[in-house]
Amino acid sequence: MEIYDLTAHELAEYIQKGELSAEEVTRAVFSRIHEVEEEVQAYVTLTEEKAYAQARYVDEQRRAGKKLGPLAGIPVGIKDNMCTKGIRTTCSSRILENFVPPYNATVVEKLEAAGAVMTGKLNMDEFAMGSSTENSAFFPTRNPWNLDCVPGGSSGGPAAAVAAGEAIYALGSDTGGSIRQPASLCGIVGMKPTYGLVSRYGLVAFASSLDQIGPFTKDVRDCALVLNLIAGHDPMDSTSVPNPVPDYTSFLTGDIKGVKIGVPREFFGEGLDPRVAEMVRNAIDKLADLGAIVEECSFPYAEYALPVYYIIAPAEASSNLARYDGVCYGYRAVPEKGEKYDIIEMYMKTRSEGFGAEVKRRIMLGTYALSSGYYDAYYLKALKVRTLIKDDFARLFENYDVLVSPTSPTPAFRFGEKANDPLTMYLSDIYTIPVNLAGIPALSIPCGFVDGLPVGLHLMGPAFGEGIILKVAYAYEQNTSYHRARPPLQGREKVKANGKTSGGR
Ligand code: GLN
Repeated sequence: MEIYDLTAHELAEYIQKGELSAEEVTRAVFSRIHEVEEEVQAYVTLTEEKAYAQARYVDEQRRAGKKLGPLAGIPVGIKDNMCTKGIRTTCSSRILENFVPPYNATVVEKLEAAGAVMTGKLNMDEFAMGSSTENSAFFPTRNPWNLDCVPGGSSGGPAAAVAAGEAIYALGSDTGGSIRQPASLCGIVGMKPTYGLVSRYGLVAFASSLDQIGPFTKDVRDCALVLNLIAGHDPMDSTSVPNPVPDYTSFLTGDIKGVKIGVPREFFGEGLDPRVAEMVRNAIDKLADLGAIVEECSFPYAEYALPVYYIIAPAEASSNLARYDGVCYGYRAVPEKGEKYDIIEMYMKTRSEGFGAEVKRRIMLGTYALSSGYYDAYYLKALKVRTLIKDDFARLFENYDVLVSPTSPTPAFRFGEKANDPLTMYLSDIYTIPVNLAGIPALSIPCGFVDGLPVGLHLMGPAFGEGIILKVAYAYEQNTSYHRARPPLQGREKVKANGKTSGGR
């Protein structure tokens, strides 16, 4: 295995023992980036200089005999919707193309304080709206397992970067599945923590009652370590919960005897690729073999989750995105020579030129749902059904420790396959969205392959039940080998050496 193929905890051990320096690890990751980035296109901005400076600082600390934190010196990529002081934060949108935040998101501050080496900012669907990164205003990211396929979204950049060895781990955000679905499609671990566990200060808002930041990692131990680092109360985020945070690695015992696992039958219905269903069924059998008590159960309101989400998320987005008016910051439309705009024309031009089609669609849907006369019929009703979904979960968690389902109904799909049909695209998140509506935590873990493309198993837990989810995921991972698979990505130099042309498409 190459250095860039290793996990964060493996590399941290080498760094702490002095067998590898943080600088060497950083160099390995950047040379991998230069080798495969032309094909994968995961990054919007690279921060190579800053990364080396941080790595050298960690190495100095170690040489000076200072105790290093568990993730010190490890290269991490950040989704481009988290503010990084002095570094462009675009949300993969024209409207923020040149936006340089004057402050760091809390999670970025925490990473920096822990000696993380930031590699750069990662591509996404514009404002995190989408499931394929095809909505990025700049370019789509490709799936390292098959360059003709999407990496999922909206955090396609983070997922592809980690899978391709272009970052050892990454941070993403999940409003309706944007961490778990791309993690599943790229064959890595992705977790959406409980609403309120991780501060969103400095995360550019999409739908504030649903957004949450979480880790992309190569295995479950890394996921627990990253969660240890980013979880915890932050007075700068009023939705952040002042609970004490456990050491999540303490749940990685490997023992799941007697753990009660529910399998909601509604998550195995129409629209699920039978090959994905088979992989997930096999994974569930494995959990039973390991001593878990597995039972089928019912989640009656599951079918309403998607329609409810597509009222609530656009409604909140339409309000959050009202701030991009060309006045305070971001893109502003400039009149042609001889032309003049009044303020309303300036707003209109700025917003029609600055936002892409999907973002405009969401703003229109949301404005409609919130407008007088429709508010009660759509928005208020959606909030009520959201409560019913939450109650469904609460009832199930009285009987089960964890619920399981597929993460995504299909493996990675081809570019263009769903791009012109928003409803089909929206269905990609059918199993992940209920979790955001209820505010609970969930994780996707690799559980097999279909035609060389990864499949993810979705584990859901009660609020603040990250520990039990990680416990089950770890036991599963330790008894399977999918997490050790790496994509057969050749990279530019190697492709040339083999006499083939580079680029999958
Ligand atoms: N794909 C979903 C959407 O387009 C979820 C996105 C997300 O979680 N940010 O809204």
